[in-house]
Amino acid sequence: MKLDPTALRYLSRDEFRVLTAVEMGMKNHDLVPRELVTNIAALRHGGAEKMLQTLLRHKLLHHEGKGFDGYRLTTLGYDYLALRAFLAKGLISGVGTKIGVGKESDIFLVENEQERVMVLKLHRLGRTSFRKIKSKRDYHGKRGHPSWIYLSRLASQKEFAYMKALHEAGFPVPEPIEANRHCVLMSLLTGWPLHTVLEMVEPERCMQAMLDIIIRLAKCGLIHGDFNEFNVAVSKEDSSQIVMYDFPQMVSMNHPNAKMYFDRDVDGVFRFFRLRFDVDTTAFDRPEYETLLAARERSLDVEVGASGFSKQENQDFETEMEKERMKPHEEINDEDDDEDDEEDNEEDNEDGGQKEGSGEAVKALESGMRKVALRDDAKEGVDEDDPKLAGGPGDADEEGDGSSTDEQAKADDQRRRERVQKEVARRIRKQMQSGKTSRNTVKSRERRKVKESMLEW
Ligand code: ADP
Ligand code: MG
Repeated sequence: MKLDPTALRYLSRDEFRVLTAVEMGMKNHDLVPRELVTNIAALRHGGAEKMLQTLLRHKLLHHEGKGFDGYRLTTLGYDYLALRAFLAKGLISGVGTKIGVGKESDIFLVENEQERVMVLKLHRLGRTSFRKIKSKRDYHGKRGHPSWIYLSRLASQKEFAYMKALHEAGFPVPEPIEANRHCVLMSLLTGWPLHTVLEMVEPERCMQAMLDIIIRLAKCGLIHGDFNEFNVAVSKEDSSQIVMYDFPQMVSMNHPNAKMYFDRDVDGVFRFFRLRFDVDTTAFDRPEYETLLAARERSLDVEVGASGFSKQENQDFETEMEKERMKPHEEINDEDDDEDDEEDNEEDNEDGGQKEGSGEAVKALESGMRKVALRDDAKEGVDEDDPKLAGGPGDADEEGDGSSTDEQAKADDQRRRERVQKEVARRIRKQMQSGKTSRNTVKSRERRKVKESMLEW
């Protein structure tokens, strides 16, 4: 996936409003009916037609015309919403080359006005379920699966929350700067990704540093869950200086499969140093799950869990992550990621996969930095446009556990709103499919109803 920021500078406030309206509509729809987009956007001068055309032309939206008239965000469209937020906050002012492709992410260099080079990680989760949706053409029913927007956003929230907690606790991780939607802005890490290192002076020190991190994490109640040469960078000068990254799959020492994940992380380290650097790994003490479980000093797992997500969100996400964690690394890396070609028509050739995370290679890449800026009007109202977790599995996250009357009433109300919404969408669709009515003649009463149901989102 490329991230061409060129069009960002041309988009108007209204075009961003319409783009955000589609994002909000995707909370309950895989494909957002045109009427709903218009209603959510509520533009001062009525129709959103022109904006929709512009957004389509820039490939920020995808339009599905067969059988149903609706829109969804493309990956680029979602990227633009996040970029806009970072730009409006003055956190970035330039977007550079892609320096990494992870299993479920794209990593770009970015910079700010002071020319500080940082890293933007864009999470790309849930493309598999996206594929399934497409084949079923099941757009209108209540969403029974989490969408890619929702999952990618949760991945970024979870990653940011852990990165922050670990950074504050003094672990060697990139400095977390800000998160928005599916993106995490962080410092550029120093050192070389371990999997690219073929020769090392004193690899034993690097191995011990990795085991020490596993132990320290465990004492804080945590397992990295994917702690291997792909997620650790090592300093060129000092092999005991390492930085770890990639946290969406972090898991608690109390997770039902914790021992398995813990042992897998440990085994990976032993195997890597034995095979790559011919280290005599029998000389090392093997960290033991049970011992460390009893030696807990802190509960970062609980602290982060309590700060970030609701229970429901956590559960949804963990269900997906469990699948991710179960995949062996090779399989993950080989996964194709051109699902969006239909709408994006982009070629990936120039990126060429993983590259070094620092040093001369990055210096060369930094020259590819392109300045970006928003139009003045497009800077307005960015925060209010950032909807809460769009694209979740229905609105289950808002229904509570139904134990109190208040919550029961809220849930009933929610269900009522959804029924109204569904019914109106059905009627609009029917009228438009029959060809007798153009979308402009859909009764204003129905429009109002849709709007009412949208108000409390
Ligand atoms: P994924 O979850 O998709 O595996 P990672 O966080 O592991 O994503 O990032 C993928 C690759 O991008 C890494 O292997 C590394 O080479 C590079 N990368 C990630 N974060 C940074 C950073 N802060 N600085 C430099 N390179 C990074
Ligand atoms: Mg990784």
